[in-house]
Amino acid sequence: MPKISNNMIGELDNLVRVGQETSKKAVVLLSGGVDSTVTLHWAKEKGFDCSCLIFDYGQRHRREIQAAKLIAEMAGCPAEVIKFSLPWGGSVLLGGQKREDRSQKPEVRSQKSEGEGRGNIPPTYVPARNTIFLSFAISFAEAIGAGSIFIGANAMDYSGYPDCRPEYYEVYEELIKVGTRAGVEEKPIKIQTPLINKTKAEIIRLGMRLNVPFEQTWSCYEGGELLCGRCDACLLRAKGFSEAGSKKKFRPVQTEIHHGDTEARRNNFRRIEHG
Ligand SMILES: [Zn+2]
Repeated sequence: MPKISNNMIGELDNLVRVGQETSKKAVVLLSGGVDSTVTLHWAKEKGFDCSCLIFDYGQRHRREIQAAKLIAEMAGCPAEVIKFSLPWGGSVLLGGQKREDRSQKPEVRSQKSEGEGRGNIPPTYVPARNTIFLSFAISFAEAIGAGSIFIGANAMDYSGYPDCRPEYYEVYEELIKVGTRAGVEEKPIKIQTPLINKTKAEIIRLGMRLNVPFEQTWSCYEGGELLCGRCDACLLRAKGFSEAGSKKKFRPVQTEIHHGDTEARRNNFRRIEHG
């Protein structure tokens, strides 16, 4: 029997590691907004075979869920929609909250303010939202053998959200290692946050390079057919496009979305794109 050298063991270790890293299946959390859409297209460009996960969790409006479904379809990726509710509310973004809370508008808070501490959490924070989303994503990833979960979290513009910071994702990866079969069998699932340290303008420039269909994205906290242009998300979006030097307006398309109407929507998108 040939003697196995330390070198050979090292090579074998490397092969195992490479094998683990080459799982190109990925779960992408898709909200229908700019960040998650750019993340999806970034993952696709890197060669990942993406399955999207969309959450219907009682948001104030349906518009962003419709946008997310269409964005997944246009990217040629399958999508699962998970529906659940958070009846206890706790955020101005949740539709099912008490009447007196509902009058509170999402506040304008686009930039990190001087001396902002960890205790300064904006009212648009949804209690433990990313922790809940990632729990579903881990289950989905394990079930389909995906090696990565992509999330468009960003620590620059909304640094008041504790579940958008790099240290949160590092800890969550540790949880996957100890709390899942994939983890204990040493096939760790990575949480990939390619936008975490990018400004909105950098994210938009990246999306422009990737030909992201920005017209299909929905960022507004209100639910109409047009962006309200006043809420925090709208202001941040407009500022990002302006700073990115975009000459195009990238206004969301205005028609209702119907199932089976994708071709018409694509044509509509093209008209706006070239119009
Ligand atoms: Zn708005």
